[in-house]
Amino acid sequence: MLVKACQRSVIQYVCRQKKRLSFARSRRTTIHIHNMPCEVTDRFLILYGSQRGQAQSIAEEICEQATEHGFTADIFCLSDVKKYNVDSETRPIVFVVSTTGDGDPPDTAQKFVKKIKNKSLPHDSFANLCYALLALGDTNYANFCNCGKTIDRRLQQLGAKHFYATGHADDGTGLEVVVDPWIEGLWEALKKTFANMSAADQQGAAHSDSFLKSPSGQEKNSSNLEVDLNLLKLSETDLPRESTPDCSQTETLIPLVASLKHSVAPLSESVLNVPALPPSYLEVILENQSVKEEMVPADKEGYHEVPVTKAVQLTRDDSVKTAILLELDVSEQNMAYQPGDSFDVLCPNRASEVEELLLRLGLQMRNNYAVQIHLLENTSKKAAKVPLHIPQGTSLQFILTWCVEIRSIPKKAFIRALADVTQDSSEKRRLLELCSKQGSADYNGFVRDANVCLLDLLRAFPSCLPPLNLLFEHLPKLQSRAYSAASSSLQHPGKVHFVFNVVEFPACPEHSARTGLCTGWLADHVSSIMVPTGMLTASECLDTSALPKVYVRPRPSSTFHLPADPSVPIVMVGPGTGVAPFIGFLQQREKEREVNQEVTFGETWLFFGCRYKEKDFLFREEVERFVQNGTLSHLIVCFSRDDETDAGEKVKRARYVQHNLLLHAKSVASMLLKDKGYLYVCGDAKNMAKDVNDTLLEIIGNELQLDKLETMKTVAGLREEKRYLQDIWS
Ligand code: FAD
Ligand code: NAP
Repeated sequence: MLVKACQRSVIQYVCRQKKRLSFARSRRTTIHIHNMPCEVTDRFLILYGSQRGQAQSIAEEICEQATEHGFTADIFCLSDVKKYNVDSETRPIVFVVSTTGDGDPPDTAQKFVKKIKNKSLPHDSFANLCYALLALGDTNYANFCNCGKTIDRRLQQLGAKHFYATGHADDGTGLEVVVDPWIEGLWEALKKTFANMSAADQQGAAHSDSFLKSPSGQEKNSSNLEVDLNLLKLSETDLPRESTPDCSQTETLIPLVASLKHSVAPLSESVLNVPALPPSYLEVILENQSVKEEMVPADKEGYHEVPVTKAVQLTRDDSVKTAILLELDVSEQNMAYQPGDSFDVLCPNRASEVEELLLRLGLQMRNNYAVQIHLLENTSKKAAKVPLHIPQGTSLQFILTWCVEIRSIPKKAFIRALADVTQDSSEKRRLLELCSKQGSADYNGFVRDANVCLLDLLRAFPSCLPPLNLLFEHLPKLQSRAYSAASSSLQHPGKVHFVFNVVEFPACPEHSARTGLCTGWLADHVSSIMVPTGMLTASECLDTSALPKVYVRPRPSSTFHLPADPSVPIVMVGPGTGVAPFIGFLQQREKEREVNQEVTFGETWLFFGCRYKEKDFLFREEVERFVQNGTLSHLIVCFSRDDETDAGEKVKRARYVQHNLLLHAKSVASMLLKDKGYLYVCGDAKNMAKDVNDTLLEIIGNELQLDKLETMKTVAGLREEKRYLQDIWS
């Protein structure tokens, strides 16, 4: 419902000049407080280790903001080992590192982590170092922020000191919840650090760590250094301000309920702290000439284009989700895999969305123009690079289809930049709100949690007209999606199967209903050959040259494989599509036994769960066959929404896999603790894997009569021995 009122939301922006003045003011404040000259020694180093670009973009944001706060930052990837030297570094260092896989360092940080983990390093190797560390992770996974924690722990052991408390940001709940206040507090901590360093210099105290001493002269335990909460309060002069709301503006409709497009009080009336405008750094030229031959980027990154020889809908039409099994013919490629491995699938952005984006940008007539990208001369962006994932000389259409993730959720820095190219003042104001500190809840609710993408913003804010360079500066690389092999190459030579649920995003006020990028595309792409379970399939009735094709590349797992010793028991837990790798395991064993009757396998348990026995019991016939021929010793299935027996009686049964684990607690504990068995968990990380983990703790605690801490240690021991293995995703 809307009411008429005087809109108090028109803002004016602080012009660059004014902003500069305000920063200069804040620098003067520093000079006044510390009564010392402002020197260009306020220089620090930013080192990042990034897998998918998140840590890098946060590091770059810190670098941008540094200038605004009067500092000079040098920024390097941890893999650029020739460009920095932590052994002799005396400037403060800010580390930003993510964690990948099962608590592993990102590829770019591997060398650095290996170097500092070297046991022969003297305990004071990094006594010269003062640093702050921002670790990124996801609490949906075990070993949260493990890479950051490892670097932190090791630097401490080697004598380095914190100048600011470590931040642990959780992608599960939203990185910005920790990242934003952490960065805000960083500037004050740096100011104090430089002031202390300078004071120490002036007093001739050459101890490089003197700035970490408390006023009483006692050295602080830097690892326990608390963040001063006041540090989190930014000086208002540091950021652009709005003008006082002007009630003389034309009367406008203002909403009672907030939405993506509109805010309500108090936000609509707040003074906003918005991030600094990210500096432009790319120049994009569209040339009306024939483009060079367009190679799907996949070709350069180890992908193979392979035919889809089968597409089977595994679920009934009336089931809650649609699960589809695909069979790919990989016989022409050298693509060996083991059950437990996954495959990366590269899919294009939706053609209709690319078209709409081109139309919206007014570039529909130039979609085939060749794109040339250069670094903008005199850009103030540090370490600016032309993005490697955007090839030169290819068409605009091609880049928007294969190179950038146009569905990605825009980060606050992107929204800030979009606000700058928005004509209408109330639209501009709303975009600024969404990226502001005060508008965090709105950003989370209307952008992040609603899975809003660039096009949704362009639809909601019609006067926003971003130039191409802005898009290429902010849209991340189009990522492949991983799928677990649901087959064994022993049983299906030259083929690989995988199974997926079509992800559905229901319609919401921010956008209409849509499917996940890859799963929706795959479902459409194979629709011409899709059959229900049990029917003749594509490879059996179609000319193979007419089959749909996909780009795939292997993604071997380091640990999620069958045990080397086949006689140890295994317990597999995989509800829904999480059963995929276990189908591969069981096919492998079925075939091994066919070839060699003598082979003996340990107890083999599968805990599977779905909603209804008749609608979404994936691979039902196959797993029942595994039971009949002895490949599977125990098949324990639960139906979460089916409480009727075959005779139509209502019964109370286990709902989820973890409830069945509890019902079989004695056997599970005995296999894991006495018989050195393996526990495998695959599927949803957000809820299922956590609940299964809690259940495992309960089972082990009860069995061994241990308290909580001892139980956790026992389970951690199973993980370390690689006998409790997870392949989970959220
Ligand atoms: P996107 O357009 O990328 O949307 C993803 C977003 O949708 C997520 O951010 C989340 O918010 C939401 N989302 C994702 N999945 C779901 C879901 N099931 N229900 C509701 N919302 C969801 N997936 C499989 O189906 N089968 C597999 O065998 C499989 N194996 C994997 C193996 C590995 C090693 C990894 C890392 C992931 C695996 N996944 C598997 C997940 C898969 O890679 C994709 O993330 C998933 O298919 C969604 O892709 P999409 O492009 O359709 O969704
Ligand atoms: P799903 O169909 O949504 O759910 C399967 C069953 O799990 C349903 O009966 C559901 O019950 C139940 N369930 C819901 N919450 C649960 C909980 N907390 N504990 C235990 N069971 C629970 O599952 P899915 O979509 O196939 O798979 C889940 C996810 O795993 C997907 O996101 C997929 O991408 C991912 N996946 C990852 C890998 C991998 O990392 N290797 C492999 C395969 C799949 P209700 O709905 O009735 O509550």
